[in-house]
Amino acid sequence: MTQYVYFFGGGKADGNKDMKDLLGGKGSGLAEMTNAGLPVPPGFTVSTRACNLYMETGGRLPAEVDEQIEKALARLEQLMGKKLGDPADPLLVSVRSGAKFSMPGMMDTILNLGLNDRSVLGLKAKTGNGRFAKDSYRRFIQMYGNVVLGIDKDKFEHELAAIKKKYRAAADVDLDEKALDEVIARYKAVVQKETGRPFPQDPREQLRGARDAVFKSWGNPRAVTYRKLNDIPHDLGTAVNVQTMVFGNMGENSATGVGFTRNPSTGAKEFYGEFLQNAQGEDVVAGTRTPHPIAELQKVMPEAYKQLREITTRLERHYKDVQDFEFTIQENKLYMLQTRNGKRTGLAAIHIAVDFVEEGILTPREAVMKVEPQALDQLLHPIFEPKQRAKAETAAKGLPASPGAATGAVVFTADDAVAWSQKGKRVLLVRMETVPDDIHGMSVAQGILTATGGMTSHAAVVGRQMGKPSVVGCGALHIDAKGKKLKVGGQVVNEGDAISIDGSTGDVILKEMPTSPSEVLQVVAGKLKPEKSVLYQKFEKLLGWADEIRRLGIRANADIPRDAKVAFAFGARGIGLCRTEHMFFAQDRLPQVVRMILAAARGQRGLDLTRRLKDRLKEARGSQTAEIKKELAKVQKEYGKHVADYTGALKKLLPMQRADFAGLFKEMHGTPVTIRTLDPPLHEFLPKREELMVQVAVLRAKGGARNKAEVARKEKLLRAVEELHEFNPMLGHRGCRLGITYPEITRMQARAIFEAAVQVAKKGIPVKPEVMIPLVGHVEELKRQKQIVIEEATAVLGKDGSGVEYLVGTMIEVPRGAVTADEIAREAEFFSFGTNDLTQMGFGLSRDDAAKFLLYYQEHGILEKDPFVSLDAGGVGQLVEIGVQKGRKVKPDLKVGVCGEHGGDPSSIHFFHKVGLNYVSCSPYRVPIARLAAAQAQLEKPVGD
Ligand code: PEP
Ligand code: MG
Repeated sequence: MTQYVYFFGGGKADGNKDMKDLLGGKGSGLAEMTNAGLPVPPGFTVSTRACNLYMETGGRLPAEVDEQIEKALARLEQLMGKKLGDPADPLLVSVRSGAKFSMPGMMDTILNLGLNDRSVLGLKAKTGNGRFAKDSYRRFIQMYGNVVLGIDKDKFEHELAAIKKKYRAAADVDLDEKALDEVIARYKAVVQKETGRPFPQDPREQLRGARDAVFKSWGNPRAVTYRKLNDIPHDLGTAVNVQTMVFGNMGENSATGVGFTRNPSTGAKEFYGEFLQNAQGEDVVAGTRTPHPIAELQKVMPEAYKQLREITTRLERHYKDVQDFEFTIQENKLYMLQTRNGKRTGLAAIHIAVDFVEEGILTPREAVMKVEPQALDQLLHPIFEPKQRAKAETAAKGLPASPGAATGAVVFTADDAVAWSQKGKRVLLVRMETVPDDIHGMSVAQGILTATGGMTSHAAVVGRQMGKPSVVGCGALHIDAKGKKLKVGGQVVNEGDAISIDGSTGDVILKEMPTSPSEVLQVVAGKLKPEKSVLYQKFEKLLGWADEIRRLGIRANADIPRDAKVAFAFGARGIGLCRTEHMFFAQDRLPQVVRMILAAARGQRGLDLTRRLKDRLKEARGSQTAEIKKELAKVQKEYGKHVADYTGALKKLLPMQRADFAGLFKEMHGTPVTIRTLDPPLHEFLPKREELMVQVAVLRAKGGARNKAEVARKEKLLRAVEELHEFNPMLGHRGCRLGITYPEITRMQARAIFEAAVQVAKKGIPVKPEVMIPLVGHVEELKRQKQIVIEEATAVLGKDGSGVEYLVGTMIEVPRGAVTADEIAREAEFFSFGTNDLTQMGFGLSRDDAAKFLLYYQEHGILEKDPFVSLDAGGVGQLVEIGVQKGRKVKPDLKVGVCGEHGGDPSSIHFFHKVGLNYVSCSPYRVPIARLAAAQAQLEKPVGD
């Protein structure tokens, strides 16, 4: 026979703390507390198994569930010496939900069950307190009416308010028994009117109704949303806890309260909580009366306080975690109603974990497991002042692309962002989507908000890399960039109006909000001394323990020295990806980049033809020589200018790139620096076609000689843009395909890398360049690009290598690359998985367009998570595994990493650890998260020990 009901009471319980799946967190906690000899009011738990059956069968539970409940009830009645519904001395119970993971306030609770018109008199007689008895009954009708019978709360509140008005009562407690009788009569009339039936008087019917309502509440929208937000599976179900009521409202020697063994927002070691005398639990939660700080309990009920301190201290050591507890004191006798591991802020989590080690409660390994990696985020970014945030309304929600709180005046273009910030304004850049061209505006903005784009869109990737709070894909925004305004939910926001975004939640708030800076970040930036920040010291201590445990190396994706410096300070030991194209967007470079692009096709052709002819010339004899010379002159005439432009632009870019790379090498102090050759389609560096067309038309209409020249220049640009147009640029002329067709670009970049390496090495700073070729799908692509890199390396470093050791490797980001990784490994000295593109191509999901429907997919359970955020282990993950296995089959020691956005996502990090990657690379601000997640992965699944 399946056991559906688990009893607890009288010093022992059927369940224990390891039965969370079946009994829920609360039920297993009650069982555990009972077993530990704590003063827990007895009761029983109906298992999640019954809930799942209830959901599956549409409410038809097998008879054995009712039979087992009946038996448990009889046992409870015997233990308490009272009977449910007894008119003389009734047993009263509470009915509460309790899922495996705590979902605070998400499901409903019913108190005082067992009261009816007759038993309320029994309660009155037994307690000698008519007011208390009637108040309990009216509360029960209200809760039951709302939760089980589905009657709007306001209907009851309305009646209560009327009676309070009638008796001029300021608060509920001012109503006397007679007034409460009137409230009860009115409540019962509400039930009759709303349901067409009288309020149920049979306690067994009440119990069934309450049980079913709890089961049903698992599916209520609040609960569903909470689970989605917190990644809690929908098929767990909730248990139902039926427990003897104890009363904190039996007079001044009774009380009820909640507390934490440590301060859950700061982590300080202080007994933290509040209580109300002569009150029921819901009074504390509902906020109708102001509770007192728990320290005052010591004065009013010293014995109970002492016992509470003893018990909770014991509980903290027992569970090895901060406890969040509920208690009731009934006529000076303490009852523990609940205890569970307390939720805490990221800040508190760090303090608590480290303090617990210092107090000998946890080992460093255990402490490392206690902190949610994602929670570290809260320490690395500005946050809103919590009280103000609670008061502010969320106007819209987008994707939480880059964490942190930002507030500022709205601007709609990158140029405006720069102009406004030069005037000393704090701005928030709002765009439909950002493009590489916006980088200057992004870097001065407090935060970035876009209406479209997903978690690997430009704004998201760059926002994270810069550590800028960013919310992307906020579909509720209607942006009119030309008119410099936006509409959201019926409200208009004009340029200059203050708004705020929370990049950790995706919230958009239409007003200015105070923020406070991150202490850890101030230390990292050198603005605060480490010894002045206890938080920083503990942060580093915890991460130091993590470093000792983890097997995965941690690198950062950084393009510029400033980001590299942050990354190193956060503990990155290497750069896993430098996207060289990001440097091309700097204002002093873009003109040269455009010049290079405009001349590239013809320039490269001219170079190739010239080389070929010159080779022939070497072998030529007699009349052939003259012939070839003639041809050379022709080529020179036709292509000379393009060749000059192409090579001229590259020559100008070379020293700029060299300086970029030298900066990175210096900041990374001899750890490996992976530099990727040019990746994006070239049109990204040019203005948009539509914009150019408008500009040409406007200039033409104006006329004039100067404008004529400008028209010619713009038209040339427009032709180039049209020539470069691709229907599917993400699958087009990008990645190594660029370097293969325009080898001079790869050559220039390789030369810049090696010249920078020599420059820095000469200063005595060790360097480890790793040149990475993107988007390789066929070994031949890598082979050819590698040859160019080696030629340049040899030319710069000489035969002896000048003391610079370098590697040439490839990204694995095209599915074909992954499945032919054995062939590719013959040429590659390392692999780095580009899981952004691998997800895009493996799934066939455009990384720039998928946000539109990915949310729908998640809401409707097609996908659990956004695959651009958390690696799709079952699908794309297989490509990674195949790539690793095939690569290492050929080269057993092949170094393999990942540099897609997944490198900073804790659950993906667990996967990368499991499949044997050597390192993960992520944005600088995610480095601490990755360090901790990598340690947790090792503790959960040790490799190499
Ligand atoms: C990737 O594709 O995962 C990657 C790191 O490259 P990018 O995001 O620049 O395409
Ligand atoms: Mg890529």
